[in-house]
Amino acid sequence: MENGPDYRIARRRMVAEQLTPRGIVDKRVIDAFLAVPRHAFVDPALGVRAYDDCSFPIGYEQTISQPYTIAFAVQALAVERGSRVLEIGTGSGYQTAILARLARDVFSIERIEPLLVKAQEALAGATEGSIRVKLGDGSLGWKSYAPFDRIIVSASMSGRPELLLEQLAEGGRLIAPIGESAEFLVLFTRRNGVTTERRIARCAFVPLMRGDA
Ligand code: SAH
Repeated sequence: MENGPDYRIARRRMVAEQLTPRGIVDKRVIDAFLAVPRHAFVDPALGVRAYDDCSFPIGYEQTISQPYTIAFAVQALAVERGSRVLEIGTGSGYQTAILARLARDVFSIERIEPLLVKAQEALAGATEGSIRVKLGDGSLGWKSYAPFDRIIVSASMSGRPELLLEQLAEGGRLIAPIGESAEFLVLFTRRNGVTTERRIARCAFVPLMRGDA
């Protein structure tokens, strides 16, 4: 039943009820949500509820984000087939799997080791695509693979992500939740060496943590 009819139906309903009506229209993004088995990235006891319109705890005070939250950010990121993507906060690995269907290479950093181990197991069983993960503080980026065409941060930052912006390629896009009391999803775009930023939504993410876990 790993990918049986119940799960396929649950994915179709997730797209039809949670994503399309809220403006997720990018065909490649929708196809990724139809393909990636979200249930493989959460507690197996959830079954088809894994596709519900909410986040779920994944342990260590962290959560797998609501499908719409991921879809909104990923659509705004405008990942291209040839993109090299850096993700900060692997968490369950679900968004990593979505990104891997859209991009050429995905690099993902998580600071909580047991989460990273679990995510790697789920990714190995449930996805295709080129994925490289590492344990560490993602706010420092991943210098040896920089620059990246796309960077997506899945935990909220208190200020402008300077170190990550240094690792963003020309023509690149970076999305991060920023702010303490009022949090916004901010899209940074780099064109001709100039970086512009735009708040694209209000949001609520778990805080990014610095240093060792
Ligand atoms: N997209 C993921 C979101 C997980 S929640 C999902 O849907 O499963 C955010 C994750 O960011 C958590 O797993 C948390 O441990 C991780 N995180 C927090 N601060 C971090 C940091 N400085 N570097 C890397 N990962 C971090």
